[in-house]
Amino acid sequence: MTGVRRLSDAAAPHLIVPQLGPGVCGDCFNLTRGYGRCFACTRGQQRLAAFLPVSYSIAGGPLHRALAASKRDADPFVPVATATIAAILWRFLERHEQCVAAMAGVDRFDLVTTVPSGERSRDARHPLRRIVGQLVGPTRERHAPLLARTEAEVQQRQFDARRFAATGQLSGAAVLLIDDTWTSGASAQSAAAALVAAGARRVGCVVIGRHLNPAWDRNEARLQPLRGRFGYDQCALCAGRGEAARAA
Ligand SMILES: [Zn+2]
Ligand SMILES: [Zn+2]
Repeated sequence: MTGVRRLSDAAAPHLIVPQLGPGVCGDCFNLTRGYGRCFACTRGQQRLAAFLPVSYSIAGGPLHRALAASKRDADPFVPVATATIAAILWRFLERHEQCVAAMAGVDRFDLVTTVPSGERSRDARHPLRRIVGQLVGPTRERHAPLLARTEAEVQQRQFDARRFAATGQLSGAAVLLIDDTWTSGASAQSAAAALVAAGARRVGCVVIGRHLNPAWDRNEARLQPLRGRFGYDQCALCAGRGEAARAA
């Protein structure tokens, strides 16, 4: 655990805890021009019972680079990036899996799985699968590869229930779905659709980085007050709850 603490603490200054409020999508924490839900969530299909991002991932920023590096086989930064992502996820889930479970309406998740890789050929050695299935203490005992990419021709950034298929029947299990990045949510929602079709009772999702483009609209200015405030004791769902309880 000392390695987990050291690596996750070192990464903390680069993490940005999303915060719900005016102009923030209530479903996916995207920044909007004053709307309560973003365009992608209004247009797409919702199959997830709960969604919790660890951090915003800013295009070109340190978390975005680490998430990208962990997927490039030849990158010399792979071992460090993988260990860092595993440490962040370990530390975060230890404390906040219960926040996403509560939102999904379950006591805990029976099974944990990952969204299959974008490329079918890479899936078996998808780094996230190793992180969740072997490295991270809170998930490895419950991990199972529950999803496979199908042969269906689908649009990259659009919800499509045919994109993935479950590898077996889930008979009422509560499933925690983990992905590295959330951009439009199409991939995670499509994965959740396959899990629900196979009998999952509820599907909750945790991603490491909720992608944001800092150049869009006023994103950079809006992110500024959130920087430097990340701590593993609060997540996007439970942040502020302690203060509210003290004030009451
Ligand atoms: Zn949204
Ligand atoms: Zn929490």
